[in-house]
Amino acid sequence: MAVSYNALKIAQEAAQNALKAIQIAIEEAEGFEDVADGDYDAPIPEPVPASEPEPEPGLPAGYLAKNFKLSEFRCTCGGKGCNGYNGLTEAQAAAATKPLAELLQKGRDEINRRYPLANGKERAVNIISGYRCKLSNKEAGSDGSSRHLQGIAADVSVSGLSTGPLWDELNPNGGVGYGGNNCPHVDTRGHRSRWKY
Ligand SMILES: [Zn+2]
Ligand SMILES: [Zn+2]
Repeated sequence: MAVSYNALKIAQEAAQNALKAIQIAIEEAEGFEDVADGDYDAPIPEPVPASEPEPEPGLPAGYLAKNFKLSEFRCTCGGKGCNGYNGLTEAQAAAATKPLAELLQKGRDEINRRYPLANGKERAVNIISGYRCKLSNKEAGSDGSSRHLQGIAADVSVSGLSTGPLWDELNPNGGVGYGGNNCPHVDTRGHRSRWKY
């Protein structure tokens, strides 16, 4: 019995959709292995507003979250390549980096809940690399697309702890890169991405 034209068209469309899905999966798999900061084609985030950020009730000046100051995210170029925030004003930088600081605060609180220190002190989440400019990004061995340039990424360490899996759990809509040096990369790019570097 002859197969109807409509049935053939439906089958053709299903096959094309399957091919598309495979292509996307291949691109994702390639990105996972090769790409230092992931997803080069991702949409560029909205430009940060130039206005002053709303003062946060209960937070001292300069703080983006309870335990994170904006200055902790400063670029490590020491003024050689940028003003510390890759050309953003402090107000712009605070607005761009606040969601990241809040995510890191959530992680810090969770780390101290799960792995309390015997002496009652709190474990700190250290920002190894926050903002980067062209100069410091090159020194870090990254290409021009790094989220560090926008102030929405940090490589972090916690003394004596390997925290990669925790960030994976706490950052479903952002990037997490697992480094061999125990300083996972965490960013707030707005969609999930995972890779090893
Ligand atoms: Zn710099
Ligand atoms: Zn990074």
